[in-house]
Amino acid sequence: MARQQARKRFGQNFLHEKGVIRHIIDSIGPGPEDHFVEIGPGRGAITRELAARARKLDVVEIDRDLAAELHNAEWAVEAGVTIHTADALEFDFASLSDTESSLRLAGNLPYNISTPLLFHFLEAQKLFSDIHVMLQKEVVQRMTADPGSKNYGRLTVALAARCRVESLFNIGSGAFSPAPKVGSAFVRLIPLASPLVSENELPAFDAVLREAFGKRRKQLANALQTLLSADAIEAAGIDPMARAETLPVEDFAALGRQLQKQSPDQMRGYALE
Ligand code: SAM
Repeated sequence: MARQQARKRFGQNFLHEKGVIRHIIDSIGPGPEDHFVEIGPGRGAITRELAARARKLDVVEIDRDLAAELHNAEWAVEAGVTIHTADALEFDFASLSDTESSLRLAGNLPYNISTPLLFHFLEAQKLFSDIHVMLQKEVVQRMTADPGSKNYGRLTVALAARCRVESLFNIGSGAFSPAPKVGSAFVRLIPLASPLVSENELPAFDAVLREAFGKRRKQLANALQTLLSADAIEAAGIDPMARAETLPVEDFAALGRQLQKQSPDQMRGYALE
């Protein structure tokens, strides 16, 4: 059967360079006790090695044709890989296991939906002991930026409140077919056992981040004026004259808590994106 063309709408860029695949697997370090879930197995570049080394592997693939190819692959049948033909953005990870830190997640993610995917994973962060993903290099630069740098922003802080992020290595476009127009990086996320922001405070925290980074160079008193007064900012222990782009994650968490305390009802209806 002739192979279908890569589907752009599903962000399909298949890994083909053996050295890169080996480097990825070595960084993940799958072991015989591990239960993995892989997002977007595609033609199985990473899947095959994970299946061979892990105790259990569930994969989530949206493309029905690729899922069917995997169903027919002898190595996948032999290893007992469970294939879920589904949209990972809607996938309920708790249906695989409800034990804390019992799952390891890996994937070469479709770049067009990588940020919403990351936040969907983190909604179930208690279940994951770690997350290894391939992403667009620019996104990884934003995820790992230091306060005061140009890449430091809402994504950096929203992630830092929930997990530790480690950029492992960059990968050139030539390792993929078709070659993406952007550079790639492989990254490890370790969910924090105690996130800096509780689930119930997340909407307020996110509201603060949105306003603060919408006006990142302005003083907080000005940038946050629709949410918090200068006095309220000070009551959270933060200098109202400081600028958002210089503030560490702990200070944003304190501002979110202050807002939550001040207007719990207002925040209840606040939609997270
Ligand atoms: N893992 C393969 C590799 O490294 O060669 C494929 C990676 S490719 C960048 C992304 C994969 O994710 C494709 O197989 C694509 O069909 C799948 N995909 C795209 N959107 C998805 C979604 N919403 N849910 C699950 N899989 C998705």
